[in-house]
Amino acid sequence: MGKTLAQRRCIVCKTTSEKKDLLRFVKDKSGAVELDLSSKAPGRGAYVCKDMTCIDSAFCSSALSRALRAQIPKERLSELKDMAINALSD
Ligand SMILES: [Zn+2]
Repeated sequence: MGKTLAQRRCIVCKTTSEKKDLLRFVKDKSGAVELDLSSKAPGRGAYVCKDMTCIDSAFCSSALSRALRAQIPKERLSELKDMAINALSD
């Protein structure tokens, strides 16, 4: 088992980055979408750069819903966006 650098692709700009430079969103079994700060939650994941431009685009378009194949209510989208912005300032 060799060590591989964990790299993932942003769903907005399609740039491949190390996981630490991306935010992970995950859809759990119930279909609820969460911001996964541990990067370990089970379920379908989607990655977005820790970058305001990518976060804005992910939430202004349907990129996140499409990537997760989830129906995300508007209020939930704005909650998730707030959480993502908070995570940026850590
Ligand atoms: Zn990006």
